[in-house]
Amino acid sequence: MSVERPVIIRNGLVLTMDDAHTVLPGADVLVIDGRIAGVGHGLSAPDDAEVIDASGGIVMPGMIDTHRHMWQTAMRGYGADWTLTQYFVWYYLEHGKHFRPEDIHAGNLLGAIEALDAGVTTTVDWSHGLQTPQHADAAVDALEAVPGRFVLAYGNIQQGPWEWSTSDGFRDFHRRRIDGGKLAGFQLAFDVTGDPAFPEKAAFEVARELGVNVTTHAGVWGATNDDGIRLMYENGFMTPGTVYVHATTLGADSYHRIAATGGSVSVSTESEQSAGQGYPPTWALRRYGVPVSLSMDTSVWWSGDLFTAMRTTLSADRSREHLEAHAKQETVTHHHLRAEHVVDFATRGGARALGMDSQVGALTEGRKADVVLIKNDASPAMFPILHPYGHVAFQAQRGDVHTVLVGGKVVKRDGKLVGLDLAAARARVDATVSYLRETLGEEAWRNGQNPDLPQAELFDNPYQYTDYAGETTE
Ligand SMILES: [Zn+2]
Repeated sequence: MSVERPVIIRNGLVLTMDDAHTVLPGADVLVIDGRIAGVGHGLSAPDDAEVIDASGGIVMPGMIDTHRHMWQTAMRGYGADWTLTQYFVWYYLEHGKHFRPEDIHAGNLLGAIEALDAGVTTTVDWSHGLQTPQHADAAVDALEAVPGRFVLAYGNIQQGPWEWSTSDGFRDFHRRRIDGGKLAGFQLAFDVTGDPAFPEKAAFEVARELGVNVTTHAGVWGATNDDGIRLMYENGFMTPGTVYVHATTLGADSYHRIAATGGSVSVSTESEQSAGQGYPPTWALRRYGVPVSLSMDTSVWWSGDLFTAMRTTLSADRSREHLEAHAKQETVTHHHLRAEHVVDFATRGGARALGMDSQVGALTEGRKADVVLIKNDASPAMFPILHPYGHVAFQAQRGDVHTVLVGGKVVKRDGKLVGLDLAAARARVDATVSYLRETLGEEAWRNGQNPDLPQAELFDNPYQYTDYAGETTE
């Protein structure tokens, strides 16, 4: 690892996100050799340290997104009006198979840069467009070209997980690129349909053999349900470190099982609200003591930042709480979910979910120096800062991300990305968009923003690699 120049961030309002959630006004953060060397007032720094003036700003740990389909970033905003069903039709059924390795690369590159720009220093690339090992190589090439922390969650919606995970090509890829590679982590990404034959068992066995965790879309209306959780539980595959994405439509038994086995839920509130996976589940998760992290899912709908995730998560939780009370002629006088909680979800929650809590997620001595400075002296929304957590969740935006450090390396300074070639990423994305437009044809490209459904019998389930369709799938 290259040794970066020391950095001292001076005179900021520091949200350490340590166990006590210590908040230090007018404090410094010292970074040496890529790690936090001190947090406090009036710290002395080495003579060669870069000094960053944080006055008027908030210093916090880099944010962590535990579920993002980065390959879809090349299609930014295209699916703005899609339901989840239309998303399945476009990607799973009709057009996902058109994506070439270079298209995966283009999306990942833009997605990775976008994450850093927004202060998201660790991102799980929930990469379910890996139709071949060449696609997977392209995904990793892009992630390794950007100085953020990326966990590759390997998946392939074009094949059953029991097929791709047991293939020689996958094994070879894992040997070549993951063992001893530069990525921050590796997961297997697949869904459990609830088929009583439990064909996904083979993929869980691969994960166990490789010693890696599984991340799975669980409790998604019309796609996955309690049966998948039950099968995982009965077969001993609900292990600590498993990340359940969405988990909106599950019953009490499933939530108990997730909590009891050390799993956590990645809540994608903006996605769940708009696409229809189910009601964002924080209100249920706290009832069962299930740990929460946040994610934004895919830039085919939404911007890849966690400010929006924090904001919508607070709003959805409170919206439900008020609505339920009003239905009983009652008044909510104190909110259950506070701004401090969602800032924790976006930092420590993500670190815990990924088993990286001793490394990132907080500004404490010894942790890796993934640091975000939110500061924008030109913005009337950046003062006064009276409620630091509330300011992060409800007032700040990605444009207010002034400086970002990953492992002590400055990747954004004074509001501008450092050493990242956005023009080159743009050229790659443009090439992908041109290729897809040409391949689909103008009519399909236009209609794709509001795609028709195929005949009902063809769309009993979104997973085209299996004939199984449960009672709750469409
Ligand atoms: Zn997803």
